[in-house]
Amino acid sequence: MTPEETKAFEEKVYAFVGKPIYTGSRRGHDDVNSAMIRQWCEIMGEKNPAYTDQNWAEQSSRGHLIAPPAMMYAWTQEGYKVASEGRPTDGQVEMVKFFDSHGFSGSLGTNVDQEYFAEAKVGDAIFEESMIESISEQKTTGRGIGYFFETYAKFTNQDGILLGTQRFRVFKFIPPAQEDSAPSNDSALEVPTRANSPRGQDNKWWWDACDDGKVLIQRCSSCQALRHPPRPMCGECQSTEWDSIESTLDGELFSFVELHHPKFPGYQYPLIVGVISLAEGTRIIANVVGCDVKDVVIGMKLKGKVEKIDEKNTLPQFYPV
Ligand SMILES: [Zn+2]
Repeated sequence: MTPEETKAFEEKVYAFVGKPIYTGSRRGHDDVNSAMIRQWCEIMGEKNPAYTDQNWAEQSSRGHLIAPPAMMYAWTQEGYKVASEGRPTDGQVEMVKFFDSHGFSGSLGTNVDQEYFAEAKVGDAIFEESMIESISEQKTTGRGIGYFFETYAKFTNQDGILLGTQRFRVFKFIPPAQEDSAPSNDSALEVPTRANSPRGQDNKWWWDACDDGKVLIQRCSSCQALRHPPRPMCGECQSTEWDSIESTLDGELFSFVELHHPKFPGYQYPLIVGVISLAEGTRIIANVVGCDVKDVVIGMKLKGKVEKIDEKNTLPQFYPV
């Protein structure tokens, strides 16, 4: 965009600031109910009996079940039909389309602030009123050039009591061009390779050992429990101290799938992906090779070999014994 085009764009986009997202307020599809509360608590691992234990709640100072305050926004969400039918047009959708039509098609939710003022109880109706509160000046970030916009929502119950407010911030940006983000050195390879292993702070050591021909199994220094895949903390005793042992790669097929479709470049088909129980006691996911697909059965004895499978990747491959 030229500076003039940017100016014209900004004039129009800033006109969305202060506009309501819906006309008036909208009521949640379902009033506050114990089924949705229970499911939300299960997913979030929320154990507070004030939300789900009727008997406990009756004895409590409230005398009834309440909804988790953080669920506030859940009551007025459109639901799964957005995935199939799209989001109904509203003030925010119009603004997002305007951003999109000027190349700012990337969207990244960056933060949410909620404030709670009153509790919702089972049977309450929840109403949401929301607006586009602000749009930043143009920013340059690691994601690209764009604008932060912030929506502000107020949640009330059937008596008009304010339950809480929410600010939701989204970054709308120009996504980097596709050719810029594609791996640059792959085109130099004659044969496509497999997807590279993701090497992060907690698992790079494992892949590095694999490159050296060894399959290691992480071991807790405190209780000696083995674990795989690599992770920072022992699930048994919560210790973060660990070392590792080398697997003999003697194993047994615990489960497997044959991947048919889609066929990825760099992979040999037929492609068997197995879950293999190692003699040491942990399991590993790896390919079963060196035999006919028809002969692959759960329980078969396997022996692993660490092999260079393409120009970039070294992986354990398991053969029938
Ligand atoms: Zn441990």
